[in-house]
Amino acid sequence: MTLGSVPLTTTDLQIVDGARRNSTLICAPVMAESVDQMLVQMKKAKELGADLVEIRVDFLKNFSPRQNLEVLVKQSPLPTLITYRPKWEGGEYDGDESKRQEALRLAMELGSDFIDVELKVAQGFFSSIQGKKPEKVKIIVSSHNYESTPSIEGIGELVAKIQATGADIVKIATTALDITDNARMFQVLVHLQVPMIGLVMGERGFISRILAAKYGGFLTFGSIEAGVVSAPGQPTIKDLLDLYNIRQIGADTKIHGVIGNPIGHSKSPHLYNAAFKSVGFNGIYLPLLVDSVANYISTYSSPDFVGYSYTIPHKEAGLKCCDEVDPIAQAIGAISCMIRRPTDGKLMGYNVDYLGAIGAIEEALQGSNGTSASGSPLAGKLFVVMGAGGAGKALAYGGYEKGARVVVANRTYEKAKELASKVGGQAMTLGEMKDFHPEEGMILANTTSVGMKPRIDDTPLPKEALKHYSLVFDAIYTPKLTRLLREAQESGATIVYGTEMFINQAFVQFERFTGLPAPKQLIRDVLARNT
Ligand code: NAP
Repeated sequence: MTLGSVPLTTTDLQIVDGARRNSTLICAPVMAESVDQMLVQMKKAKELGADLVEIRVDFLKNFSPRQNLEVLVKQSPLPTLITYRPKWEGGEYDGDESKRQEALRLAMELGSDFIDVELKVAQGFFSSIQGKKPEKVKIIVSSHNYESTPSIEGIGELVAKIQATGADIVKIATTALDITDNARMFQVLVHLQVPMIGLVMGERGFISRILAAKYGGFLTFGSIEAGVVSAPGQPTIKDLLDLYNIRQIGADTKIHGVIGNPIGHSKSPHLYNAAFKSVGFNGIYLPLLVDSVANYISTYSSPDFVGYSYTIPHKEAGLKCCDEVDPIAQAIGAISCMIRRPTDGKLMGYNVDYLGAIGAIEEALQGSNGTSASGSPLAGKLFVVMGAGGAGKALAYGGYEKGARVVVANRTYEKAKELASKVGGQAMTLGEMKDFHPEEGMILANTTSVGMKPRIDDTPLPKEALKHYSLVFDAIYTPKLTRLLREAQESGATIVYGTEMFINQAFVQFERFTGLPAPKQLIRDVLARNT
């Protein structure tokens, strides 16, 4: 299956001047126990930039429809959607069904802009309001699947059933078990002529909440506060507007992202979305929680999906999905960046990790020696690389290219041995490193994930062993100052942060994604704000 149906109508580079490029509304779910609290939330939703509020009256304690709805509908600073979700559809209401529908009819009479009615009872509800529905009130008929996402045909059948009830707006919310599930929702969204809310719940459905704007979704939900969501995977209003620049997404916006698992910690969306916006590049950059790279790549094969960064644990799998791979990435056996070539749609793989890391280490070495050596300051140095995954390979090859004597230490010895043999160096296990100090002034690079958030108290090498190193680099950048770097600093070593590697390779990736020079200061500023 492909998503080849969205036409490309404008050039990739287009000055995005802040004008809205889609009609998708941002709807803030309002969930509180009292009417007063709801009114406060509605005000906040408006201040944050939402277009409408979904008032979840099933959350109200002692809900009295006649009194409460009048206040809620009339005093809302934004258009209202009244939802009275019963337990049997994933909501809070557990009472009499006829009373529930009576409250919905009342909301309609009071002039709420939208009313949500569940598909299971929609036919009966429509019969009960025949001829009484005010023209301006729109009825959303909704279906929620908290377990999975049906096939295209399955979603299509649901749409037909919902349309048959007389719905003004179709709402289908399903659950993603895999990121490829979103593709089916996008296909239905992009083809449907009637207004549709098509969202895929859960962490793996996150992209549906942003790309609703690209594929013509009627609305997407944005929470007022982080974590206070009405369905799993919901972003905040602030993230929709400021991080993902959702108003600037159009049908022709090119999709980029970072492919990894887990991916929630990644700073890359902050960085690339801000950078794209600053130069007026018509692109979006998403966190892509991918289980199988091969499935992802074969599903999202349209020309709109154009550029990826690769991170743990997919750098090696990414390489296997490329049509062409640059020689350094081939030698390393891992990619960090993939670009769809516009001329023929072929996927090109690159490894730009080593450029960033080795450059930062060289700079620090030059600084600490107070010299500007003409050759690489790494030449001849004993360079110990901990880790033999994607980043480990990049560092080991980079060091080897610069003439360093490379040692590879890894938890899994076999991998250390394999990598060391390619760069003409020695291999050992991480455990053996404690007693490894053939000379003083060695250089250490950690490329294992030991010490990364959330396990920030872990460290790959005990402090006693660090005194033999003159410079320590840690590829981890969340947190910036890892325990390894802090202890290395206390032991007198020069330290180089993983953020430097990240920044340098981000410059290179930005240029590959956009064909434009990287806004370097902006990228540094965004990263400083987000670490
Ligand atoms: P990867 O290919 O999955 O490799 C992970 C490495 O960590 C392997 O050597 C693995 O050893 C080791 N490891 C994992 N858990 C361990 C544990 N509990 N104890 C000891 N060793 C362990 O990942 P990667 O892409 O190389 O990334 C590694 C780290 O570098 C991550 O923290 C990532 O965020 C960071 N990174 C940073 C940048 C940057 O720009 N600063 C760029 C790329 C990566 P085994 O072989 O024994 O499994």
